[in-house]
Amino acid sequence: MINPQPTILNAETNGAVLLRMIDEIQDYAIILLDINGNIQNWNAGAARIKGYTEQEILGKNFELFYVPEERAVKPRQLLKTAAAVGRAADEGWRQRKDGSRFWSRITITAVHNANGEVIGYGKVTHDLTDFKKAQQARLLEIRNQELSEFNYIASHDLQEPLRTVINYVQLIKEDYYNTLTTDVATYLGVIENSAERMSKLIQALLQYSQLGQKSTTVVTDLNLLVKAVLEDIGSLLSATGAQISVEPLPVLKVYSVELRQLFQNLLVNAVKFNRPGVAPQIKITAVPLNGHWLLAVHDNGIGIEQKHYTRIFHVFQRLGPQPQQGYGIGLANCKKIAELHGGQIWVESEPGAGSVFYFTLFNELI
Ligand code: ADP
Repeated sequence: MINPQPTILNAETNGAVLLRMIDEIQDYAIILLDINGNIQNWNAGAARIKGYTEQEILGKNFELFYVPEERAVKPRQLLKTAAAVGRAADEGWRQRKDGSRFWSRITITAVHNANGEVIGYGKVTHDLTDFKKAQQARLLEIRNQELSEFNYIASHDLQEPLRTVINYVQLIKEDYYNTLTTDVATYLGVIENSAERMSKLIQALLQYSQLGQKSTTVVTDLNLLVKAVLEDIGSLLSATGAQISVEPLPVLKVYSVELRQLFQNLLVNAVKFNRPGVAPQIKITAVPLNGHWLLAVHDNGIGIEQKHYTRIFHVFQRLGPQPQQGYGIGLANCKKIAELHGGQIWVESEPGAGSVFYFTLFNELI
């Protein structure tokens, strides 16, 4: 059977229809970039996904769509790859005009002239935020299930034998009080302290695993929240002669109990890890940054070597000789709390001069 003859459009009409089709596609952002990544043209889908009008965006560099922490490197790298091999692909969080983030899958294709030289790039972006959120929700569900199993083990199975050890040590001490040699009494003391410490470590781990599980966000004035923390640790501050300055802080929707704990951990550390003979000077700052807040706790303490910048945020990691009590879980809690708010936490420091602990809180996720 002979197929009916399809409508043949002449080349010019064909091109115009293609452009119209591209322009009207809603689910994909289709953007033409010049050789330097400046935006030459884009379709309705791009305006919808990114939130800029055509007038606002034409001529701007496409790096504007990247989140601040990736903006300096990633867009340039992608263009370089596309120029070298014809195509570059990526998936990750991008940023709309209002600062909110969306999960996108992109492909950048190099456009060549008749001599095979790169004259620009075509960029196609697919907004996969809904898919990503569903995936994250599923992962979270699995993680929560694992955590509740762990919580049960930690609170019952691990604590039980420790309680028995502690009880029996106490029994020996009571029943044989008069007959114990000094050595045996010392050994029993060591067993008791170690068992107590292990019990505390398990409790700390349990608390860490439960962080944020049962709480919800509430609109909170961070100025008041920090004020309450400073009151709570008032005796530590006055005993060490610590001086604290707090810049104006925002009002945000946050997990307030957890955020209070984060500030408390950072402030106690800022006092605890001071230089001998130097009174702690601590400053809390906050700056808005494209839809999120960058907060920081600055101190003038002993500082941290760069090689430990990541390690200190892991559970039970502590550095060097430790004059003070601690379980090495405070910063791991802080990391989890920052992540609960869609943010991150990191440190910058100069050994012997002081440290700055930075963390971000995202508006759109909280
Ligand atoms: P802990 O305070 O219980 O030891 P953390 O998790 O709070 O545990 O901190 C981990 C380690 O990071 C600390 O043991 C210390 O070595 C280092 N640290 C944390 N805060 C500071 C600070 N402000 N200045 C210098 N070192 C710090």
